[in-house]
Amino acid sequence: MVKLTAVLGDITTIKCDAIVNAANTSLLGGGGVDGAIHRAAGPKLLEECRTLNGCETGKAKITKGYNLPAEYVIHTPGPIWHGGSHHEEALLVSSYKSCIELAKAHGCYHIAFPSISTGVYRFPLDKASEIAVKTILQCCKESSQPFTIEMVCFNENVKNYYDAAIRKYVTV
Ligand code: ADP
Repeated sequence: MVKLTAVLGDITTIKCDAIVNAANTSLLGGGGVDGAIHRAAGPKLLEECRTLNGCETGKAKITKGYNLPAEYVIHTPGPIWHGGSHHEEALLVSSYKSCIELAKAHGCYHIAFPSISTGVYRFPLDKASEIAVKTILQCCKESSQPFTIEMVCFNENVKNYYDAAIRKYVTV
């Protein structure tokens, strides 16, 4: 069971069990949402990330949230878009799936996701939004404990894509 919504906003302000970071494989911070999360969480986040020895694309690792309102941060390096024939779609599915499995293992059922891979990594938003929504629905449908998942969209354009994907795939 899952209640899935798209909201406009800044993921670093969301109070929930875990926010997801669209990280890179070093897990040592970067630009975009990654930089914003590290700035808002404070230097202890980077200290903990240094102990994790990076993370493979499509996998996920968890840390505490430090100064963030969220209790945990789940870091996943999404795929860089190289035209679509380099397993990009499967790797993006894997990122969402790995995050939800890790969240569940830590008792996190209220989760906020950014639009993974669609910034600097250039994954097309039409494809990425559909993959995100379909994978989240698939991963949560068997759960007896209900999930609340927010897709946190940084601007109206991003939100339009996620709203459309939700309209297409969520049956009420
Ligand atoms: P990636 O490297 O995975 O493409 P980016 O951080 O470049 O990650 O972009 C992913 C998405 O996150 C983009 O839609 C970008 O606009 C958005 N974004 C950037 N900052 C924030 C933030 N503070 N909260 C939510 N989304 C954000």
